[in-house]
Amino acid sequence: MTTSNFHYDLFVIGTGPGGEGAAMQAAKGGLRVGVAERYQQIGGGCTHWGTIPSKALRYAVTSTMRSLRNPVLREMGVNVSPSMAQLQRGTQSIIGKQVSMRQSFYDRNHVPVHRGQCRFVDEHTVQVDDGELIRSKFFVVATGTRPWRPPGVDFDHPRVFDSDTVLDLEERPDSITVYGAGVIGTEYASMFRNLGIKVNLVNSRSKLLEFLDDEIIDALSYHLRDQGVIIRHNESMDSIDPQDDGVILTLKSGKRLKTDVLLWANGRQGNTDDLGLDNIPIEANRRGQIDVNEQFQTVLPHIYAVGDVIGMPSLASAAYTQGRAAAMHLLGTADGNLRVHDIPTGIYTSPEISSVGRNERELTEACIPYEVGQAQFRSLARAQITGSTTGMLKLLFHRDTREILGVHCFGANASEIIHIGQAIMNQPGEHNTINYFIETTFNYPTMAEAYRVAALNGVNRLF
Ligand SMILES: Cc1cc2nc3c(=O)[nH]c(=O)nc-3n(C[C@H](O)[C@H](O)[C@H](O)COP(=O)(O)OP(=O)(O)OC[C@H]3O[C@@H](n4cnc5c(N)ncnc54)[C@H](O)[C@@H]3O)c2cc1C
Repeated sequence: MTTSNFHYDLFVIGTGPGGEGAAMQAAKGGLRVGVAERYQQIGGGCTHWGTIPSKALRYAVTSTMRSLRNPVLREMGVNVSPSMAQLQRGTQSIIGKQVSMRQSFYDRNHVPVHRGQCRFVDEHTVQVDDGELIRSKFFVVATGTRPWRPPGVDFDHPRVFDSDTVLDLEERPDSITVYGAGVIGTEYASMFRNLGIKVNLVNSRSKLLEFLDDEIIDALSYHLRDQGVIIRHNESMDSIDPQDDGVILTLKSGKRLKTDVLLWANGRQGNTDDLGLDNIPIEANRRGQIDVNEQFQTVLPHIYAVGDVIGMPSLASAAYTQGRAAAMHLLGTADGNLRVHDIPTGIYTSPEISSVGRNERELTEACIPYEVGQAQFRSLARAQITGSTTGMLKLLFHRDTREILGVHCFGANASEIIHIGQAIMNQPGEHNTINYFIETTFNYPTMAEAYRVAALNGVNRLF
């Protein structure tokens, strides 16, 4: 087949961060690029049901509740209780801004958006809804995921939600059970508790967010419990029984929890079931995910897959980088400096959590002689001024070479602060050193000053 037989050089399925990263990189590289999107607006789950609405709602909740707790307002008799619909109002305008900005990227780069469900017809051909057959030399599948719904649970009941439908919650419930304590469940549990709602967080594992550093997990558990979240570990659902006045969750351990509403946040399913995969030799696993190699190629080398549909880390940040990496690879300009595996974790609970690199458990298992440097936020002038004294920055570094091996942080602005450590960790050879933080002058007072405090704390332990 010659290039002229194709309508496009690259056809991208999905306009979330994975699809956008691939489409823009390829268009800038001079390829003829088209995309398909089945939702009425571009932007993906990231913009409409995931990252953007949840973080916009979190901001509305934290800023509103902080203001309402202000003693001056209380003294003036201001004692109101905002509804979910009021808190959500700002979210819609942010989504609108994101959509129009992202649409302009497609317009400016002459990338047509084909609206509808895209399915493979054969290895080089797709069809969007019932439209004309579209032939392309390469494809990037960036179709994302949706919440997994267990059989036997009535998700049409007005008291039962998943992470997509919870955004439609109009009234503020008095109590909620969040089933599933992964990142999404824990973030929502924290947000609802900030609103003064009674929260049960049910975890099927023995710890919250097991991939984090143990000390950070302990801190998160402590603070959530301290705020009043009831956490149940090692539990699994037996049945969910929605009633007129609440939802009863029965656990296999025999416990029964009744709350006004239930948020199911346990598991996600790749959007591959209606993609026409039965017409090509690509198979999705039981979670609907597609296997890829290091270059994000599927078993068919001209069909790439990126973002949530390939599994962990399932972050918008990672999806975008993966999309770019796939486009660079098919352009033949693969950039060895694109750090597709250097993905920081940002978890928007209260307190916020962020980390990059290896944690203490991993370093211990690998027998790497590391040392720890810590800075408590309560000892930082900036934190005292802003009242953000809950938190800690922890640097893990090699005790011989002083190379930084991991940075772990919880507290205000953790997901921003982490990038300073990430930048130093990525310096080549001996330039990745904890000495940087001892030898460099930082603005004062700042939260970033925690790096100097933690570095001195760690180096002082060396002998
Ligand atoms: C509640 C929540 C909070 C989150 N918070 C964060 C966060 O704070 N930070 C972070 O980095 N990540 C966060 N995430 C994860 C982030 O949203 C995802 O990692 C990201 O959206 C994945 O991007 P993607 O491009 O792979 O897929 P998506 O953004 O899901 O986009 C996939 C697109 O493909 C379209 N599509 C699917 N199938 C087809 C088809 N056959 N034809 C045409 N179009 C199709 C869909 O309509 C969708 O628009 C959060 C997720 C959730 C659910």
